[in-house]
Amino acid sequence: MPIRSGVARRNFLCLRDASRDREHARRGTAGNPFPAGHLPGRIRAMAPPAEREPVTGFEDGASPRRFGWQTLMEWAAIVVATALWLLLARRLLDGGGMSASALWLTAAGTVAGYLAGDLLSGVVHWFCDTFFEEDTPLIGRVLILPFREHHRDPLAMTRHGFAEIAGNSCLALAPVLAVVALLPAPGAARPWWLAVYAGLLVFTAVAVVTNQLHKWAHMPAVPALVERMQRTGLILQPLRHAAHHRTQAEAYCVATGWLNAPLDRIGFFPRLERALVAVGLPMSETAPRWTPPQARPRRNGYTS
Ligand SMILES: [Zn+2]
Ligand SMILES: [Zn+2]
Repeated sequence: MPIRSGVARRNFLCLRDASRDREHARRGTAGNPFPAGHLPGRIRAMAPPAEREPVTGFEDGASPRRFGWQTLMEWAAIVVATALWLLLARRLLDGGGMSASALWLTAAGTVAGYLAGDLLSGVVHWFCDTFFEEDTPLIGRVLILPFREHHRDPLAMTRHGFAEIAGNSCLALAPVLAVVALLPAPGAARPWWLAVYAGLLVFTAVAVVTNQLHKWAHMPAVPALVERMQRTGLILQPLRHAAHHRTQAEAYCVATGWLNAPLDRIGFFPRLERALVAVGLPMSETAPRWTPPQARPRRNGYTS
């Protein structure tokens, strides 16, 4: 029977793809679920419309040109952020001790930081997929373009070096770490600072490695330890992330992916999207539009 409704067809495609995922999982298929040219249907909506002027600074029309000063700045940010992170980690170790309450506070902060890192990855990703354009002044080139490029060519990031992968995150987080370094260190007089310190350290670590975790999810082969972490769900699983590239309407979190299922179930991003559109934020011309809200796929690759 032909499927005429666009909503029904999208749901049908999602469920069909989810069942393919389960088949891969059942057979234990390893490797890259993102072969070249794998992007069907909706994802083509991310390509710039023909009438738009191409963003300047591209070497070959596909990848933004890199400058020497960018790499230098990225490495400087990585060194500074790492030094500050190690300073704060040392303070945490010195101020924590081995008491039960100190360990509990540190553990609570660690879990909260891990979840917050995943949430940040989803919010930034969703925002850059949904709002503004690649040629928007200030944020277009540095923030929006990499996400749009990733949907045009998901494997491009697998060719990026470490500085390009982690540099921008360090650039954004170094000032935060610097401010915290100026505040009092955790200790007996400030036990709650243990949770704050632990949370901040884990959060910044996850934020810095998010692009690397995302990159691993796209690579055809990864080190054995990384593959084990992916299989156990400790970090982003390639098959789970594939759901995002199929529909571009779910699974935005790209660090651990732990929050994807709960956020998608409560419609977190569609609600946020409607709220920001209501206050006048310009949706991208190329972002898929899921209105009315019930047009969002109700089921996804997390269903069993
Ligand atoms: Zn995306
Ligand atoms: Zn991706």
